[in-house]
Amino acid sequence: MSTDDDCLFCKIVARDIPATVVHESERALAFRDISPQAPTHVLVIPKAHFQDAPALASADPVALAEVVSVGAAVAETEGLDAFRLVFNTGAEAGQSVFHTHAHLLGGRKLEWPPG
Ligand code: AMP
Repeated sequence: MSTDDDCLFCKIVARDIPATVVHESERALAFRDISPQAPTHVLVIPKAHFQDAPALASADPVALAEVVSVGAAVAETEGLDAFRLVFNTGAEAGQSVFHTHAHLLGGRKLEWPPG
């Protein structure tokens, strides 16, 4: 499995940094965002290190599908009828951690378009 010793989310996968894990599967991990932007704000990541969603799609589409499925499972557990699952991709789109992650947001009315 690809990992990066300097990556924050790889350290969470390795349990070297604490996180509030809400779901774990073979290839994916879901944990609460440290700075929640909605009543439910969970990050779903592949356990393997890829810099963004397109890189994961190319290298391991099964893992990308698992990230989406885990997001849906967490949404159901959280009792969300509607939710947003979003991959910020690139710094100008708001990506600050370069390990693929989906933001699962819900529990309030979400505006569109996003800022
Ligand atoms: P992005 O800006 O799309 O790359 O999202 C990165 C997310 O990681 C942000 O929403 C941060 O609040 C979140 N984050 C940063 N450090 C941690 C951490 N140690 N545990 C949980 N979430 C974190």
